[in-house]
Formats: sequence, structure tokens, C-alpha cells
Amino acid sequence: MPKVLIKNGLVISPTGVIANDVLIDGEKIAAVGAPGWFTSSEQGCDRVIDAAGKYVIPGGVDVHTHMELPFGGTFASDTFETGSRAAAWGGVTTIIDMAVQRYGENVFDGLAEWHRKASGECAIDYAFHQIIGGVDDQSLKDMKYLTEHEGISSFKLFMAYPGVFYSDDGQILKAMQTAAECGAMIMMHAENGPAIDVLVQQALARGDTDPRYHSYTRPSPLEAEATHRAIVLSHVAGNVPLYIVHMSAGDALNEVAAARHHGRNVFAETCPQYLWLTLEETLGQPGFEGSKWVCSTPVRSRDNDPHHIGQMGHGHQGDLWKGLRMNELAVVSTDHCPFCFKDQKELGLGNFSAIPNGIGGVEHRMELIYQGVVAGELSLERWVETCCTTPARMFGMYPQKGIIAPGSDADVVIWDPNNKTKIGINDKHHMNMDHSAWEGWIIDGKVDTVFSRGVALIDNDQYIGRKGHGKYIKRGLSQYLV
Ligand SMILES: [Zn+2]
Repeated sequence: MPKVLIKNGLVISPTGVIANDVLIDGEKIAAVGAPGWFTSSEQGCDRVIDAAGKYVIPGGVDVHTHMELPFGGTFASDTFETGSRAAAWGGVTTIIDMAVQRYGENVFDGLAEWHRKASGECAIDYAFHQIIGGVDDQSLKDMKYLTEHEGISSFKLFMAYPGVFYSDDGQILKAMQTAAECGAMIMMHAENGPAIDVLVQQALARGDTDPRYHSYTRPSPLEAEATHRAIVLSHVAGNVPLYIVHMSAGDALNEVAAARHHGRNVFAETCPQYLWLTLEETLGQPGFEGSKWVCSTPVRSRDNDPHHIGQMGHGHQGDLWKGLRMNELAVVSTDHCPFCFKDQKELGLGNFSAIPNGIGGVEHRMELIYQGVVAGELSLERWVETCCTTPARMFGMYPQKGIIAPGSDADVVIWDPNNKTKIGINDKHHMNMDHSAWEGWIIDGKVDTVFSRGVALIDNDQYIGRKGHGKYIKRGLSQYLV
């Protein structure tokens, strides 16, 4: 395995931005030292990279993706091959995808299906969460087995999608009790599904079928209510660690902040679409164009949401950025779930509720959150913490992943802050979809070089990785609990 020296860069971690050289030996980071420290070993290196003026960051960890997810009569359009390659283009070196058990199915069959889809296909390392779509005695037993033997220590439940993934409060409580017993994390899609379904039916009956009604029928109080209920249930279930996925609303965030204020193991993630995109500019576009931005939870109104006045006077987005600074939001993921416009989003022509839910974003998270640094919303340290380090700690992969330190996997990204990235179908776009939710966005900064376990995947604007390089990561328990 090659030896690589990255010299003269600024190494970023959650605790600082420090001029350091990084020595990679084979799959691991061998040493991190003061600039010039390894000059004598340059001779023995296969490659020396001068990273002067650039940032050296841990490979991104995206803990929420859905490759090939079956949804609404179709499948998310990225396979593990195409999606993990796009992730590499975006400076991401580890994903955790959501293996699926639907109601009436066996958990192990669902997991086996996910291993079959991913095995030998990934450009980067990958792990799984397990969706439990049917809580019963058998699936509760299986949760324990997966935690103890399969490296799957987090289980996702749904308070939304009745008849598909939905669990009622009793089922949720049981799954939480089981997770509390084995030390696992419960991840929650927190929206009040039965109430949403009523609003959807009423909207359709009125003839309100355009994509924007997708957001109007999922108002933020129904996210806040479900978040609150999940927090209460997790408390009753023995304080099981709880992680709310894809938080989109300031009022939901307030529930997480209150629980955290009480010292609870309650965490939340948000996604770039909620930090940057608004109903008015995306989902609310005339005609069917808005379908490109149909995802759940939905993108929300910029500043005239009747249900919520932002604490900072900037609506939901101001609240979410503040939440990221305050660690009320610990992680940024993508909820990457791409569908093409043609033939996929189009399934919902004339009926917004039939539009497949999802936005493709695995390629752009590091870029879009770096733009938050440029905009003054986050520090460089916090960028790396929310996108790399905490995701690894939250889900039991640290310090193998998420940090540049001796002994850690050599997952390293060289980031050029003096360059720019133009996102768009004819610009930077490697996800398997026919449009981009970020079409035309020009971002400060650019992914320069990407290493996964010491192997270069992106170099000189070229992908030089290969499918099958990525390995399955067996995870431990969360390392982020108070
Ligand atoms: Zn999701």
C-alpha cells in the first residue's frame, strides 16, 4: 500500500484549525505532525501533496441515505454504485444507508436484500441502519440480534406513512424499550401521519393537487407534535437514546432543545434542503416543476409560515442554523433519495400525494454546509464536526471514521477554499438523476482530492476509484451519549 504525505495544509477538526502535515501509510493515518516534521520521510513516500492554502478534513460521513429505496411504486434512482460514486465526488467517504423491513416482512430478509444491493458495488465504505416497519415479537428479537452481531445499532421508526412504514405509539414504545435494553439508538421520522393523511385527502377533494400542497398538508406543528411525542415515549421507555431525522422546522427544534436542556439523550439532524431551500422558491413553483423538491419532511415557507414565527426573526431556516451552532442539531445528513423527473416524479402529475418523496443530495452536503461557513452561519470546526466527526461518534464508528488522527482510517479530503463549485446537470452532477435540486448554485470552495482508506478516489477533477473498494462497516453503540 502506498505512503502519502500531505503537507502544508490546514487540518480541521472539531477542536481547531491547525497547520499540520498528515502522513498516510496504507489504509491508515500514520501520523499528524507540525509542518516539516516528516520532511525526512518524504523520500520514502510514493506521493507528496502540497496542500498549501487548502484545508485537510476528514472524509464526510453521511448517515442518512436511501439507495434503491422502493417508494410509491418505483425505486430511488441511485444504486449503491452510482450513489456512492457521487458521494465520493462530494468528499463523502462513508454512508449509512437505511435497510428496509416493511410491514409483514422478515427483518433478516430485508437486511439480506440490502447487503445484496450494496456488496461489491460501493466506491466508499458503508454501513446500515435498519428500518423496522413492522414492530412485533419477532422484529423486537431481531433488533437485539442485529445490535449484538451485525453491527447495526440504530433502528428507524416512522410516525408517518400509515399502511407503509407507520408504527403506532404502542409499537414505538415497545421498540424503544427493546433498544433501551440493548443500548441501541432509535431514529424517528417524526410527523403525525394519520393527521397528515386527513389533510391530504381534504386537499385532493378540493382539487388542490399541485406539488406545493405537499408542504401545506404537512404543517410544522405536526412535525413538532410528533417530535414531542417521540421524546415523551423515549423517556418512558427508559431514556432510550433518540435521534430525530431530517428536522425541518423551528417549532420541532424547540422540542429537541427543551429535552436536551433537561440532559436527555435526544438528538436531531437536519439536511441542506431545510437550511437553504424554501417553499416559495422550489416546491411552490408553478405547474409541476415543484415536484422536484417534494420530500418529507417538506421544505418550508421562508418567513410567512402562519404556524411559526422564527425565534431569530428569520423563520425556520434561521432557527435551524442557530440550532446547528448550539448543538440542538448535532448532525447534517442528506436523506439522499433521488427520483428522476421523467417517469418518476411524473407519477404524481395531477396528484401531489403520488409524487415519490425525495431529493438527491449525497454529492453536495459538504459543499452546501461549507457555504454556511462562508455565509458566517458556522465555524470551520463546526462544519467538520456536524458533517464528519459527530456522525461517526453518534453511530459508533469513531475514531475509525470522522477524524484525522493517527490510527484512524485514511479517509481524507483536501478542500480548496479558493476555488468554486457550480452545481447543475451540465456542471457538477454525478447522481443518477435527470435534474438537480441545486441547479445553477455556485458554491465557494471545491473538493480537490479524496482518499478512502488511503486510496485516491477523486484526483485532478477525475474519478479514479472503483466499485467494490467500499467495505461494510460493522458499527458499535453510539459514542455520543451524555
Ligand atoms: Zn430518509
